[in-house]
Amino acid sequence: MSVAARPLFALDNSYVRELEGLYEPWQATPAPAPRLLAFNEELASELGADADALKAPDGVAVLVGNATPDGASPVAQAYAGHQFGGFSPRLGDGRALLLGEVLDVHGRRRDLHLKGSGRTPFARGGDGKAAVGPMLREYVLGEAMHALRIPTTRALAVVATSDQVARETMLPGAVLTRVAASHLRVGTFQYAAAHDDPTLVRRLADHAIARHHPHAAEAENPYLAFFEGVVDAQASLVAGWMLVGFIHGVMNTDNMTISGETIDYGPCAFMEAFDPATVFSSIDHGGRYAYGNQPHMAQWNLARLAETLLPLFNVETDTAVAAATDVLRSFSDRYHGYWGHGMRAKLGLADGQGEDEALIDDLLALLHAQRVDFTSCFRVLSSSVLGDGARARSLFAEPSAFDAWADRWQAQLSSQASDPQAIAEAMDRVNPVYIPRNHQVEEALAAASAGDLRPFRLLLDVLARPFDERPGLEPYAEPAPPSFGAYRTFCGT
Ligand code: AMP
Ligand code: MG
Repeated sequence: MSVAARPLFALDNSYVRELEGLYEPWQATPAPAPRLLAFNEELASELGADADALKAPDGVAVLVGNATPDGASPVAQAYAGHQFGGFSPRLGDGRALLLGEVLDVHGRRRDLHLKGSGRTPFARGGDGKAAVGPMLREYVLGEAMHALRIPTTRALAVVATSDQVARETMLPGAVLTRVAASHLRVGTFQYAAAHDDPTLVRRLADHAIARHHPHAAEAENPYLAFFEGVVDAQASLVAGWMLVGFIHGVMNTDNMTISGETIDYGPCAFMEAFDPATVFSSIDHGGRYAYGNQPHMAQWNLARLAETLLPLFNVETDTAVAAATDVLRSFSDRYHGYWGHGMRAKLGLADGQGEDEALIDDLLALLHAQRVDFTSCFRVLSSSVLGDGARARSLFAEPSAFDAWADRWQAQLSSQASDPQAIAEAMDRVNPVYIPRNHQVEEALAAASAGDLRPFRLLLDVLARPFDERPGLEPYAEPAPPSFGAYRTFCGT
């Protein structure tokens, strides 16, 4: 008697069951000679999956799209989106498939999704493919964000396809398996609202409520409470980005999730010298998605979400608009609440002190004026708390202005009850030593694309514990050398 093999995943398909009209059933394009490049053991065990089975040839065939796992119902998801402010009514997964949903070991529903798995009905002019470099980039940046405790989609695996992908040059192809709380986007609501079926937005909102904001179902106005939940999740998310210097780079409405997870690691990068105008994306000429503009753009995107929900808020348009506007306006207070709390923690300040805001603003102004590395500065401040002010001082070309600020800051700290050791330790738990430094990421990806995965694996290991300073890893804590030049990142990878 043969024993049935344990299925790779126990898949459910609530999206497909509940949201007809928002997808096209589709199959991946077979990929020749797949090779597993990167596999996320920790995430696999969180999903309750058998890692060894996934890494074996039958598992890799699933991860690259050559085999459909039992229980999967693969679809390309439909969505619209405002891209750099211009509306596209039909984007959708041009090169990606939702395989289904897994209930993880904590009982959370997680999407399993392939990216780079071939053209779909939404591909428009695209080739449906992805290259090794950008998929490993998504992997390493997502893992870095996760370790920094910022909500994010994550990579389960990257599989090389031995396909050649035509970009500026020919590049080795790859498929990424992405895990997300869901792939519901602001653009999903925009797509639903732009279609003739008046019940579609409601079905989508009900699905999103059950999945991400179940408390909203109990509210007097569930759809307004749902909107409020999304506004709050995004305020918290973007505050998290700002506190570590993350620049998403392409905050189009199709790249903003309803869950509050970071999604779409295209042209994103971490800021080094503090400057709110920092932009890395080669196509962001106007600075729409500059570091300092991210909270504003999040609120702009949320206004687009509100527009799709107005008929659900109230049958009277004026009443609906007034209610939506109130919630939308609350974004600022929510954002400043999260950001202020995070900034005070970075400076070791207890919540609710009078002078805090001026201290925060003045330090940022100094970092900007003297082009100081954001991450390094916050990290070394714990040494100042312990009596060694030289490390922080050395980051400033004109230290006297910093000294004056540091005196005020130290005075504020000494008025608090906690002892310096406890303050310094708490600061080190929120100020990372290691972030994905642009030059390190590029080096690791270039090596990986040429067949050497060691620098990539080392970088992953460094970024998995960003708050623990480890001897020997000093180069990973340094900003790029001047020879690295101005950093440019790209969409449409
Ligand atoms: P992104 O810039 O990754 O957010 O993608 C924007 C839109 O373009 C989405 O609808 C993608 O599915 C689609 N897209 C991006 N690259 C490709 C590609 N190589 N082939 C087909 N569709 C693509
Ligand atoms: Mg996208």
